[in-house]
Amino acid sequence: MVKKPRNLKHIKEDNKRTVLLSIWKEKAISRAELSRISRLNKTTVSNLVNELMQESLLKESLATTSEKGRKPIILSINNSQSFFFAVDIKVGLIYMALYDLAGERRNLITIKKENPHLNPEALIDDILYQLEGLCRQNGYDLRSVHSIGVSVPGMIDLSTNEVIFSPNLGWHHVELGEIAERKLPSWIRFQADNDANLALEAEIWKGDNIPPRTSTVFVSVNRGVGTGISFGGGVYRGNTYGAGAFGHTIVSADGPVCSCGQRGCWERYVSVQKLITDYYGEEGETKDIDRALSLIRLRFLDGDAKAKKVIHEEAYWLALGIANICLSLDPQLIIVGGYIRRMWDLLGDSVTREVQRRLSACSKGNIKIVGSSFDGWENLEGAAILAMSVELPFQF
Ligand SMILES: [Zn+2]
Repeated sequence: MVKKPRNLKHIKEDNKRTVLLSIWKEKAISRAELSRISRLNKTTVSNLVNELMQESLLKESLATTSEKGRKPIILSINNSQSFFFAVDIKVGLIYMALYDLAGERRNLITIKKENPHLNPEALIDDILYQLEGLCRQNGYDLRSVHSIGVSVPGMIDLSTNEVIFSPNLGWHHVELGEIAERKLPSWIRFQADNDANLALEAEIWKGDNIPPRTSTVFVSVNRGVGTGISFGGGVYRGNTYGAGAFGHTIVSADGPVCSCGQRGCWERYVSVQKLITDYYGEEGETKDIDRALSLIRLRFLDGDAKAKKVIHEEAYWLALGIANICLSLDPQLIIVGGYIRRMWDLLGDSVTREVQRRLSACSKGNIKIVGSSFDGWENLEGAAILAMSVELPFQF
């Protein structure tokens, strides 16, 4: 296909996106600095800024500097007009929070669920109920909430918001988008995405791990394992939104049965539930994940042999799967997040050493492996970015 030449209107829209996202990422910036970062001339920047101000997306203020002379005018995102609701569905736990357009979290709700197999109709009712409650408590008009972004541990069709498969929630072909459209107020847009993809989006837009154009895989280790893939631009989702299912690649053909129905999936060896159950035995199934991980961590630091053994095994299996990812995709960077991030200082070095050892025979083995920037909040942050993308030109 012959590529159409870009016309002036397209170029202007691209420049406007660049200006808006530069201000969003920098938080507060002068016009001169904006011109330098965006590589647009001062007149173009000034015209675009004026348009964005008329659209109430930006605001101006005087710089708070102690230097004498004229204080420069600083631009920032107008965070008082629009709000966005982020929902992070984990297995047995849901986080919800309101964010403003500058990407700041205003408050947080934590809901524990006895039964991890959620009823999708009740879930959407609950989301609306909690959102209305937060608006009432904080004096926000529900009409100022533009959209809801939802992080789901499963495979999502982004065009319809159908959850194609979420083994850990017990969902198969759940039409979440249709339910949301029926139940939510007409002005509130709804968008869901896979949790690991959103974790990677959060790293791309708000984290400090990924230099521009870096091929990256985000490995999210919770009760299940998901991965988000970027070849240096946006997130790669695959032909049918199924990319990144490394958690269900088989590492032992006769291994334990997985929630997906297969045997010996990687996630059966590295999930935090496996780590907790290895330490506590069967009673680990009923433990609160946060508390159980904190205790295992403390015991490891006290020199407890069993804690050392389970963390050593976790590092071994984590490294095995990461080496498989490196052999398949050869990325520059691996980011490890999810609950296991809380153990990263205990197992990160062993994981990196073991991955390098496994790769030494058939690759240059110069992979960089780091913990996530968000200490477990990457799914919620990603869901907020997804929600904000109705106003801000993040590319999903
Ligand atoms: Zn599986």
